[in-house]
Amino acid sequence: MHRRILIIEDEPTLQLLLSERLEHEGYSVSAASAGDTGLELAIRERFDLIILDLMLPGKSGLDVCLDLRQRRVQTPILMLTARGLVADKVVGLKFGADDYLTKPFDVLELLARIEALLRRASSRPHHGSPVYEFDSVRVNFQAAEVAKNGDSIHLSALEFRLLKYFIEHRGTVLSRDELMKNVWNYSGDASSRTVDLHILWLRQKLEQDPARPRFLLTVRGMGYKFSG
Ligand code: CA
Repeated sequence: MHRRILIIEDEPTLQLLLSERLEHEGYSVSAASAGDTGLELAIRERFDLIILDLMLPGKSGLDVCLDLRQRRVQTPILMLTARGLVADKVVGLKFGADDYLTKPFDVLELLARIEALLRRASSRPHHGSPVYEFDSVRVNFQAAEVAKNGDSIHLSALEFRLLKYFIEHRGTVLSRDELMKNVWNYSGDASSRTVDLHILWLRQKLEQDPARPRFLLTVRGMGYKFSG
């Protein structure tokens, strides 16, 4: 699954340049040219990262940042500032941005920062968001509750840990060994049948058609992948 990046930038040339480059790098990109429209998009849709210009029409980058954090949207934010003033950077980080770059910047530097932020976010528990939704399933990490079509579903503690691990590493192929090590905390060569069995149970509980899973996918010869 492509990771989604939202660019909120009012300079058309820069917006286009960034969009094309990021798409070329395999990201799925959306863009907005003003603070208010960008904010709406960031609230309505789910992104893995937001590139946010500081000086924007409609609503400033700082206000967008603040607004998102107040609404508990924890998507990593990389702020772009044209001013290069230390004060701006400090304020940006204080308002909830995760990193900043001063214009003009090197695209490779930007790509490196994006990678770093995405890595940091995926190692953070449940991406900072208390709720994750896919298909008709809603996972509340804080309450450790799962519901499907609005009906609460019982998962064992282990099933919940496994599902959480999948969600945190969505789009990545996970080997049975890795799952054993990180979900079961085994490092020995205990049976990988255990993993298969738990995935079977998760599918039965979460998939519309467990025989033809759409989210908990088998990657032949490699392991499993969550695509949600
Ligand atoms: Ca601007």
